[in-house]
Amino acid sequence: MISEDARTEEMKKTIYLDNGATTKVDPKVVEEMLPYFTEFYGNPSSIYSFSEKPEEAVGKARTIIAKRINADPKEIIFTSGGSETDNLALRGAAYAAKKHKNKSHIITSNIEHPAILNTCKALENQGFRVTYLDVDNKGFIDIKKLESAITENTFLVSIMHANNEIGTIQDIQAIGELCKSKGILFHTDAAQSFTKTDIDVKKMDIDLMSLASHKIHGPKGVGALYLKKGVDIINLITGGHQERDIRAGTENVPGIAGFGKAVELATPAHIDKMKILRAKLIKGIEDNISNTKLNGPKGDSRLCNNVNFAFRYVEGEGILLHLDEKGICVSTGSACSSKSLKPSHVLIAISLPADVAHGCIRFTLSRFTTEEEIEHTIKCVREVIEELRKMSPLTPKEDI
Ligand SMILES: *Cc1c(COP(=O)(O)O)cnc(C)c1O
Repeated sequence: MISEDARTEEMKKTIYLDNGATTKVDPKVVEEMLPYFTEFYGNPSSIYSFSEKPEEAVGKARTIIAKRINADPKEIIFTSGGSETDNLALRGAAYAAKKHKNKSHIITSNIEHPAILNTCKALENQGFRVTYLDVDNKGFIDIKKLESAITENTFLVSIMHANNEIGTIQDIQAIGELCKSKGILFHTDAAQSFTKTDIDVKKMDIDLMSLASHKIHGPKGVGALYLKKGVDIINLITGGHQERDIRAGTENVPGIAGFGKAVELATPAHIDKMKILRAKLIKGIEDNISNTKLNGPKGDSRLCNNVNFAFRYVEGEGILLHLDEKGICVSTGSACSSKSLKPSHVLIAISLPADVAHGCIRFTLSRFTTEEEIEHTIKCVREVIEELRKMSPLTPKEDI
């Protein structure tokens, strides 16, 4: 463990451990994007040769992304991000299913991102029926429960690949196989897992998949839908003929070029690096702080950059604010509802008692995270927890 004195000026900068929320845009991505703002700014749909460069940039990114998931470039639809893509996949498939009598049932899980859960709620208001599968205490769905939830009315299963809060990676190949055997569409939200674990849409029998650029060191406001050839969905944004009539609107050329570059820059070596630092952070917390519990699974079924701990007797928000004072960015279990006192739906779904769920912190690493940052974080977390536990009326005397 390094001493405070050894922390250089450079290191006193922010330690950013909230890469599940968003990531730093890689400077090489910015470099890739810049010419498409001021130099090659033509509309890709225009006919003249000035539009060739932007059109090529979009095509190049489409090819890079398709290749990474073993898809055809024609199966990639660019959107404005993960949330839009989730909406397009679910609503698009649901509205298309209306053409078929009785196809009115969707199955999802109760640990999905709000972009899925709230879209499902909206679809329920429009007459669709939704089953929300529960998960075990590590966040895994039970494939047998999924199978028995399927009815003759089911047309879509949407189960996320990796969970954004606790890092659980589902066996989506098994889910894909089951859906295929029943003739049901399978959608997966892969915003967190893309480039952090292998995805092969053919091997995994995926019909629709959501991707987001800003979770992988690309720019915000860009995403993509993988839409398997032959899968019928209804477009949500009507207008011009861009993106094969599935998503109208002039393409975000710089953003798309940046997204492609971000995918190109993400390598398996980064996964290994994050896994080593993840292990160091987990061990550092477990060895140095009593009464803690890692939420979510261990090993390869955990997202390489995710660490989520319950700290007994203290409040997540208090931990977050004290770490913020020390320049460390993390998130609490109630990341997306930080203004509300309700603990996160994911932590409740893995059966954490409410008081424990209130004391959880998520640390999400990136390829830019350093060993020094992890060491300093362990030291700071230990100090903060000790301090807060001394003040907390919940702490048993023997634990102070
Ligand atoms: C971030 C995220 C989204 C939303 O993506 P945006 O690009 O922010 O709209 C959806 N699903 C998951 C799992 C995410 O992590």
